[in-house]
Amino acid sequence: MQIDVIVAGAGIWGCTVARVLAEAGRKILVLERRAAVGGNVRCETDENGIEIHTYGSHIFHTHLDNVWDFVNRFITFNGYQHKVLARHEGKTYFLPLGLTLVNQFYGIDLKPAELPAFIAQEAQKGLKDPNGCKNGEALNFEEQAISFIGEPLYRAFIREYTRKQWGTDPKNLPASIIKRLPVRASYDINYYSDYRQGIPLTGYNSLFDRLLDHPGITVECNRPFDLETVGQLGLPEGTPVFYSGPIDALFDYRFGALPWRSLRFERETLDLADFQGTSVMNYTGADVPFTRIHEFKHFHPEDKDLMARPKTLICREYPKTWEPGDEPYYAVDTAESRALLERYRAEVAKVPGLVVGGRLGEYRYYDMDQSVGRGLDAAGAFLA
Ligand code: UDP
Repeated sequence: MQIDVIVAGAGIWGCTVARVLAEAGRKILVLERRAAVGGNVRCETDENGIEIHTYGSHIFHTHLDNVWDFVNRFITFNGYQHKVLARHEGKTYFLPLGLTLVNQFYGIDLKPAELPAFIAQEAQKGLKDPNGCKNGEALNFEEQAISFIGEPLYRAFIREYTRKQWGTDPKNLPASIIKRLPVRASYDINYYSDYRQGIPLTGYNSLFDRLLDHPGITVECNRPFDLETVGQLGLPEGTPVFYSGPIDALFDYRFGALPWRSLRFERETLDLADFQGTSVMNYTGADVPFTRIHEFKHFHPEDKDLMARPKTLICREYPKTWEPGDEPYYAVDTAESRALLERYRAEVAKVPGLVVGGRLGEYRYYDMDQSVGRGLDAAGAFLA
């Protein structure tokens, strides 16, 4: 079998790279450590026909034209628009930090033009240094959050959730994490700012099956990759390899393991058509140990039969510290982890033909569209 390129890891980045290179005429061997392709976007279907996002809820959303066009060649989206609700002291709120939440929480009736001044006034009360930065230092998570929304909202919706999610006081976390959350001076309760979003009508697995369905692509599952693999396959040194497993694992953790947060999911099938009326409900308090409950059938509102069926599957999400054997989910961004990452990157640069990408390879949180985009870029750079 002719092999021009190895793609090690069949997540969203690897499958994108494989497809683009195959369409350019290369023969691709895809090696996947797990029993099935799709990485953490892989789904299962339960006995009631509900698509379960095995590794937590995934909603495709993007503002990138090339990504949207590329993905739509393979699947059709159902038009689902993601909304997140949050429980706080026995009440349910719409989470995006905006007019809906502020007016509901404070019991007031601000207009859009009045919100910025109100928030600025609230933020002023909570921040010890009203100018934000202390001695030119970057804001930490807590300072950033208070400057965005003020202390009462921070305490109600962010502080305890974040402590559960990251296992540390929010003061120890970087501001970048909270910058992922939209803050809007409107009643727009869409969780994402991208109007192009949805769930594949035929399910996420069909995206991967179709991406890899090309005569130039051969897929082998249950095949872990390491630096010996190229030689074992009888391929010359320098054969192009696109690797998207953990970067530290590729070098046998020789400088130590990069820290991750992991998650544990607890599923329950209920004899109910609808448990919570929405796909994701956040639990923002310290009174329960989980951060959110996913109810997957709500991702397919177009399937009226499924919605009406008197069964639903819910999944409680419990964050935990990553230990060997756990799935890595969120890179823990600290000065130490960044320095460790740089040491591993220097090792990558020494291996001819090796390109490392994806969430695990780059040790970065990526939304699905960003992974597709980076895969398109990596394949484009290779072909240029
Ligand atoms: N967050 C929070 N309360 C919430 C939702 C999010 O404090 O109800 C914070 C938390 O620190 C989290 C970050 O915002 O890590 C980003 O949230 P997002 O929903 O983007 O996280 P993801 O769904 O990617 O885990």
